[in-house]
Amino acid sequence: RVVSAAPASPNEEAIERALRPKLLDEYVGQAKVREQLEIFIGAARHRKEALDHVLLFGPPGLGKTTLSHIIAAELGVNLRQTSGPVLEKPKDLAALLTNLERNDVLFIDEIHRLSPVVEEILYPALEDYQIDIMIGEGPAARSIKLDLQPFTLVGATTRAGMLTNPLRDRFGIVARLEFYTAEELARIVHRSAGLLGVPADEAGGLEIARRSRGTPRIANRLLRRVRDYAQVKSDGRITADVAHKALAMLDVDPQGFDLMDRKLLEAVIHRFDGGPVGLDNIAASIGEEAGTIEDVIEPYLIQQGYLQRTPRGRIATLAAYRHLGVAAPQRDGD
Ligand code: ADP
Repeated sequence: RVVSAAPASPNEEAIERALRPKLLDEYVGQAKVREQLEIFIGAARHRKEALDHVLLFGPPGLGKTTLSHIIAAELGVNLRQTSGPVLEKPKDLAALLTNLERNDVLFIDEIHRLSPVVEEILYPALEDYQIDIMIGEGPAARSIKLDLQPFTLVGATTRAGMLTNPLRDRFGIVARLEFYTAEELARIVHRSAGLLGVPADEAGGLEIARRSRGTPRIANRLLRRVRDYAQVKSDGRITADVAHKALAMLDVDPQGFDLMDRKLLEAVIHRFDGGPVGLDNIAASIGEEAGTIEDVIEPYLIQQGYLQRTPRGRIATLAAYRHLGVAAPQRDGD
């Protein structure tokens, strides 16, 4: 699938690592989050203390993992990385926590998917840098307290609403990542083109940027696909014309919507009379998981004003009808 904003393969992950900005100054966009972090990181460094725990939320591919690496680098500490579903047992998390050095960063991706028993031991760790672990089994079992080094948890999630309240309350810094503007994405595309050694002119870079669903990961992915196209069909240089043709071949339309985006809008309009329609009905209709629709597909359509989320369900807006070239019905109150 072209739409997926998650890394597609180990090879793609390696390329992503190479393209990842290393310091806050190289991190494009997200001005508010960057400014906040700069101050809090500076203060923590000055006091030689651990930074407050940080929760990053936003759709996939917007730079949460990148930012966690940058936080550790700016603090001058180690980063340990794991994810919610990987931590199956309390002892998995305990092993990580007890190995942290003073002021280290622990990054937990998909933190909303922690199991309740694992989450339980995280609370005292976050609050008092302590954990309770069980020693022995049966009647002889007893719990002992272990002191941890001060550390910073950076948690990432696609939706902050999926966290339990007690967990959310333990983050001192909560940052929501926004979709990027075309200009910001163009800067990312040109930076990546430079690192990959691909010649791309101003207009070519902007064309890719405009069609990247506001998402750096997609911009970098489209850049590599357009590079392939330019090498085979042209002289290797990325121009607006080359980008346009390559993206049309990839079914990315001028608005930046891909097949899944259009499938979703078409379903809402043609099968559900434009809505309101519930998420599960859309999911069944287009053969996609409700969670993927909610995390990956619809946030951008909503942000761009093509879809509305109401208490009664999703509604296609006039812009969606126009985009698909369908006459919009007269609605009550229109
Ligand atoms: P997430 O963890 O939110 O899914 P990542 O941090 O893995 O997203 O980002 C995906 C890719 O996008 C990274 O490899 C990086 O190259 C690029 N990227 C993300 N945010 C930025 C940014 N602000 N500036 C430049 N490149 C970025």
